[in-house]
Amino acid sequence: MNNPDIRNCRLCGGNAVVIDTRTTKDGHIRRRRKCLICGYRYNTLEVILYDGKEQQWI
Ligand SMILES: [Zn+2]
Repeated sequence: MNNPDIRNCRLCGGNAVVIDTRTTKDGHIRRRRKCLICGYRYNTLEVILYDGKEQQWI
């Protein structure tokens, strides 16, 4: 089970949920995430690969 909407916080390892999602001009997905535990916010940039898998870059 790999839910793209919830990832582990970089600081505390708690659940970080998506609070904003944007598609960039070149087709990447930029998500803004917020940790439910410590409140830390950060951005991730994700790329849809040719085989349909999603790769998280940042
Ligand atoms: Zn956290």
